[in-house]
Amino acid sequence: MIESRMLDAGEGLEIPLTTITGAKSGPALALIAGNHGYEYPPILALQRLRGAIDAASLAGTVIMVHVANMPSFLGRTVYFSPLDGKNLNRVYPGRVDGTPSERIAYAITKEVIERADYVLDLHCGDGNESLRPYVYQAVTFDERMNAETARLALAFGIDHILIDRNRPTDPTASLYCSTTAVTRGRPALTIESGSLGQTDDESVERIVAGVRGVMRELKMTADGPPPVARPVYLEPNVVLTSPETGLLYPVVERDQKVDANTAVARITNFFGEEIAVVRTPIGGVVLYVVATPPIVKGQPVGCVGTPTLRARAF
Ligand SMILES: [Zn+2]
Repeated sequence: MIESRMLDAGEGLEIPLTTITGAKSGPALALIAGNHGYEYPPILALQRLRGAIDAASLAGTVIMVHVANMPSFLGRTVYFSPLDGKNLNRVYPGRVDGTPSERIAYAITKEVIERADYVLDLHCGDGNESLRPYVYQAVTFDERMNAETARLALAFGIDHILIDRNRPTDPTASLYCSTTAVTRGRPALTIESGSLGQTDDESVERIVAGVRGVMRELKMTADGPPPVARPVYLEPNVVLTSPETGLLYPVVERDQKVDANTAVARITNFFGEEIAVVRTPIGGVVLYVVATPPIVKGQPVGCVGTPTLRARAF
């Protein structure tokens, strides 16, 4: 059975939700797109998956959030909601009586994450980020959770897996969508596929295939792509931020191999005079680099991860 409806987050905020209930019993998998409204491949992937998942042969339930952040999607904003200036993926688990972003986070926490057994938070590089595909695999103090998360990450099929040991552990201050799931005992991933406001078929299909791989791994469907055979675990990894506000000129490209101390971006003032050079403290792969001119002090410039030789990363 397929049911679609608008989830009411209060004060006119609506979140389009589809629930596909399989004929057989199985886990509940939540797919959340559009926490960032300018990130289109996840949103388009769910448009395709809604019609492609066959309830009659499905074991379990698929819950889809088609566009989590409707104000940002319709307002075409990068990172921040046009209504309250907040980054939705930094305000989880939200507040029932909070700002628009906080109310959206609260509704998704209660109506989607807490009703799911597994959660995939689907992202790409935002409108300003040139990104190569990768997956965030959070590592916690819970070995069972770590094993489940690692299994999901391999099943998704993207070979670059960033090991993240710095996520919050307090469920009341989880900040991130996927961390909201993990701190509530639900294995979860954050997925990155696509960038720069593009809608390319390759990035969309990579997400479709990844979801199908996870459904196969969870035995919700009989078929789907196999897990990654040769994962590239990225640890250490670092998000580089800008020391200044001004114009950004990237000097590396996504997926470029860089040595420690390589310049990633130049920052100029509004008259074109160089005021800073952002360098990576570690060598590795450029996972994303900001590729449009506006840059604000403290905001991300890029992310570099070092491929590690370990076969198991937890
Ligand atoms: Zn995002």
